[in-house]
Amino acid sequence: MKKWVFSMAVFATLGLHDSPSQLMLSHDHSHAPATFSSQESQYLDPALVETRVLQVQGMKIEGFSGASLQKLQSAFRVLEAAVNTEEFKERVLNFKNSKGERAFASNKGLTNEEIYEQFMEGRETLQPETVGEMNFFLRLYNRPWSRVIGYTSATTNTININWRYFRNYAPADVAANLAHEWTHKLGFDHRSASEHDSAPYAIGYIVGDIAKKIGSKSLHE
Ligand SMILES: [Zn+2]
Repeated sequence: MKKWVFSMAVFATLGLHDSPSQLMLSHDHSHAPATFSSQESQYLDPALVETRVLQVQGMKIEGFSGASLQKLQSAFRVLEAAVNTEEFKERVLNFKNSKGERAFASNKGLTNEEIYEQFMEGRETLQPETVGEMNFFLRLYNRPWSRVIGYTSATTNTININWRYFRNYAPADVAANLAHEWTHKLGFDHRSASEHDSAPYAIGYIVGDIAKKIGSKSLHE
């Protein structure tokens, strides 16, 4: 049976303002990913884990043109910059779940270090040979009545993105969504759209935070 993995509109805490319910969600900061600080005993010094480098590669891009293609290219740039920051590494290694543990929910039995390594290794389940690359097969579709931001499944490379949300997103929001969906491509899942401390959601939120900082910085330079 084909199992579809949906990112529901609750993921739109990253700044979506096109309906009252989402505007409300954007004021809910409870999903902000928590991190152990260097003052805490659980803190893992990032210097103890090897830093890796990831490259973003657009493989097959369907349905994007003009401004939407430009936005996607900006999102690729900011995504690549974000995952290669020290901050990304430190926040993944020191991610604190809702139980206060240094672990992701739905982590397939892997520690934060192992999840950082697997993420940066870039071996998608369906493309295990492309080490060091985030490979994207994207399709933009338009379903204006749907609350689904994007969807994918374990048996396909393709990530489907709903124009309804994409059109209002900043590149940093797109980068956060791509990070969420791509984490599925590595075989990580979440039990529901409210499992905010699962690897796909938490990594998506971390990327979104960092991407926003990078985005606003580059505007002022
Ligand atoms: Zn998901």
